Amino acid sequence: MYELEELRADCSRCVAWCCVAPAFGRSADFAFDKPAGLPCKNLLADFRCSIHATLRADGMKGCTSFDCFGAGQKVTQQTLAGRSWRDDPAGASEMFAVFHAMRDLHEILWYLTVVRRTPLAAPLWSEIDETAEQLEELTRQPSGVLAALDTLSLNSHVTPLLDAVSDLVRAADGNDDNPAPGRDLSGRDLAGADLRGTPLRRARLRGAMLIAADLRGVDLSRADLLGAHLRDARLDDADLTDALFLNQLQLNGANGNSRTRVPWSLLRPGHWVDAAPE
Ligand code: SF4
Repeated sequence: MYELEELRADCSRCVAWCCVAPAFGRSADFAFDKPAGLPCKNLLADFRCSIHATLRADGMKGCTSFDCFGAGQKVTQQTLAGRSWRDDPAGASEMFAVFHAMRDLHEILWYLTVVRRTPLAAPLWSEIDETAEQLEELTRQPSGVLAALDTLSLNSHVTPLLDAVSDLVRAADGNDDNPAPGRDLSGRDLAGADLRGTPLRRARLRGAMLIAADLRGVDLSRADLLGAHLRDARLDDADLTDALFLNQLQLNGANGNSRTRVPWSLLRPGHWVDAAPE
């Protein structure tokens, strides 16, 4: 089983795949267009970002929300043994495909690694271990195999296990006489909605559109947030303790404060600051 630290990005051991492989377009998240496969104009020769300290102020908020789940350093150090897209322009497109596949694998491994440490998921730990071992084996494959990997079908293989974990963890509650999972709002369009006071503890919010939703003070503990869109959501004073399948990318795109309770596995984003008293 992976250690969680291996699934956190370490840019010092990477060659900036995320600044080259994906495309992005001018928007609220990016100040300019960049096609896939070309290096960002802010990328330096040593693979560092020239505006790292001012990304948000310079209109590049999307960069602060990206998370490779440690795929960048894994591809750089292990799969390609130090080769980079600069060393081999002819082979770069395969390298980018490897990076995308590794990122997908590492994202699933992140979820499995976290729930493997969740006591309420204990009845499924052996199944989680087995699936994680299969995925880890895939991460050790050579670049040609990884580049051709169909990660979409991989997702459909893993989804039933994530469903089982979600049902188990959301239903369990030692304080309830009649344990039952919270409400199901999966896929609902709640963009911009005022959800303050809404009971969302143990809710299923998979893929829910929560962009700019007002979730201040809301209890989201043990809610299933897989794929929920939290960009610009307001999470001040919210409780995300043991939220399921939440990742750093989602948290970085949202706004919170020093009283927002974040899951043990995630870091409080640096841009979360407390509002000055009125
Ligand atoms: S702005 Fe910096 S972090 Fe963002 S893509 Fe460009 S080089 Fe990378």
